[in-house]
Amino acid sequence: MPSKVEQFGLFINGKWSSPANAKRFETVNPATREPLASFVAGTPADVDRAISAAHAAFPAWRDTPAPKRGTLLLEAARILTERKSAVGRIVTQEMGKVISEGLGDVQESIDFIEYMAGEGRRLVGETVPSELRSKFCLTVRQPKGVVACITPWNFPTAIPNWKIAAALITGNTIVFKPASNTALCAAQVVKVYESAGIPPGVLNFVTGSGSVVGTALVEDPRIRTISFTGGVETGRDVYVRGAKGLKMVHLELGGKNPVIVMDDANLPLALDGVLFGAFGTSGQRCTATSRLILHEKVYSQFLGMLTDRLKKFTVGDPLDPKTGMGPVASADQERKILEYIAIGKKEAKLVCGGEKLKGGIYDRGYFLAPTIFETRHGSRISKEEIFGPVLSVIKVADYAEAVRVANDVEYGLSSSIYTRDVNRAFRAIEDLEAGITYVNAPTIGAEVHLPFGGVKNTGNGGREVGSAAIEEFTEVKTVFVDFSDKLQKAQIDSETAA
Ligand code: NAP
Repeated sequence: MPSKVEQFGLFINGKWSSPANAKRFETVNPATREPLASFVAGTPADVDRAISAAHAAFPAWRDTPAPKRGTLLLEAARILTERKSAVGRIVTQEMGKVISEGLGDVQESIDFIEYMAGEGRRLVGETVPSELRSKFCLTVRQPKGVVACITPWNFPTAIPNWKIAAALITGNTIVFKPASNTALCAAQVVKVYESAGIPPGVLNFVTGSGSVVGTALVEDPRIRTISFTGGVETGRDVYVRGAKGLKMVHLELGGKNPVIVMDDANLPLALDGVLFGAFGTSGQRCTATSRLILHEKVYSQFLGMLTDRLKKFTVGDPLDPKTGMGPVASADQERKILEYIAIGKKEAKLVCGGEKLKGGIYDRGYFLAPTIFETRHGSRISKEEIFGPVLSVIKVADYAEAVRVANDVEYGLSSSIYTRDVNRAFRAIEDLEAGITYVNAPTIGAEVHLPFGGVKNTGNGGREVGSAAIEEFTEVKTVFVDFSDKLQKAQIDSETAA
C-alpha cells in the first residue's frame, strides 16, 4: 500500500524534483515507529547534477558582497525564528529528543545563522607592515568553491546550519547530504534558505545513503572541501578517500566524555550536571557525559544521590514537556546500545536501568532505561563510545588518577571537573586532553560563538563554529601591493633601504 506521508524530492539548482523511477526511503518517529516523510534515495547521477549546479552558481555567489550574503542569512534566521515551534516539534518527532531540546536544536541554528550574518561585515584578514618602503602586506579570505556538507542525525538542524551558514557567508556553494534518519529535519533547513531567497544552485540537497550519495560526493574532484560530522569509522573512510583527491577534509567525530567530581565539589550542582550531561538527548550527544570519575571520598554518597534521582526520572513521550528522556533515535541505535549494555552486564556492576522499557507507549518505540554501571577503568564500556543513555562510574583515589583515567581513551572532545579549588580547576584546564573543558558545568552546552571540536580521534585538528567556522570554509590569500614604482627586492633590498 502506498504510504500517505509527504514525499520530498531533491533540491537542485533552486528546484525540488524527483528523478523518474527514483527509489525512496521513509523516516520514522522513534517514539511510535510511524513513518514521517518519504525521500529520494539519491544516485551518483543526482550527486553529479547537484555538484554541476553548485559549480555553475559559484562565480556569482562568490562575487556577491559578503554583507549582502549576510542579509540573506539574517532573513533565514528570521524565517526560522517564525517556524521555531513547528521545526522544533519535527526535530522531536524525527530524532526523539525531548521537546525542550528539539526547540534548543532550532535555537542553536538561529543563533549561529545570526552570528554568521554579522561575519559578512567582518571576514577579517591581517594587515602588517612590509620590510620595504611603499609596500602594503595583507591577507584576504576567499571561498573554497563547492563544498560538501555531510551531517549526522543527533543535531539534525543545528549541525547542518553550523556548516551551511558558515559556508554561505564565506561565498561557497554547497551540496548538502544529511543523515538519512533525519532527512525531514534537514528538508526544513533547506526550505528556510529557499524561503529566504537563496539563488539557484547555491545550496543543493541530495538525500540517500552514505555509501552511495556520500561516497560520490567525497570522490568528485570538483569538491575541494568536505565538512563531515559523524562516527570515527565513517570519518576515517571519508578522510582516506578525500586525501586521494588532496581535498581539505574537516572531521568532527566521536567522544567518550568524562566528568570528574572531586571530594570538595558542590555535590547537588554536580548531580544536576551529570544527569543532564549523561541522559540529555538520551545520551546521544557527541559531548554526552559517558564517564563519571568519582573521588573515593564522595563515591558512595554521590552514587546514592544519583540513583535516588534516577528513580524519579521520567522516560516517555518526548513531546510531553514533563518528560526527562525520550526514546533513542532508531532501531539501529537501540540494538547497538543494548549490545553495550549486555557487555556491561558481563564486565561491570549494573547499578540501575540496563533494559528496554516495556508496556504502554514503550512498546511502540525505542525506549531504554537510563543505565548506570559501576566499572573499572579499562573495561570496554569505560573506553568505547556507546552513544546512548549509559553512564560508566569509575572510582579514583585522587586528582592525578582522575586525570590519568580521563585522558586514557582514544577520544578528546569534551571534559568537565567539579571542584571548589580554583588552583585545581585551572590545573585541569591544562591537564585534560580535550577540545572543550567545563569547570563546574556538564560536558554539554557549547555556545555557537566559540570554536567546537576535539583532539585525538575526535577529529583531525579542525574546529567548527565560532571564529573557526571562517577558517574551515576559506582559503587565505596573501597580497602584496607595491606602490614605489620601482622593483624592490624583499630580503635583498630590505637591509640597505634608506
Ligand atoms: P555516521 O554513521 O558516521 O553518519 C554520519 C553521516 O555520514 C551521515 O550523513 C551518513 O549517511 C554519512 N555517511 C555514511 N557512510 C558514508 C560514506 N561512506 N561516505 C560519506 N558519508 C557517509 O554517524 P551518525 O550515526 O549519523 O552520528 C553519530 C556519530 O556522530 C557519533 O560517533 C557522534 O559522536 C558523532 N558526532 C560528532 C559530533 C562532533 O561535532 N564531534 C557531533 C555530532 C555527532 P547515512 O545517514 O545515509 O548513513
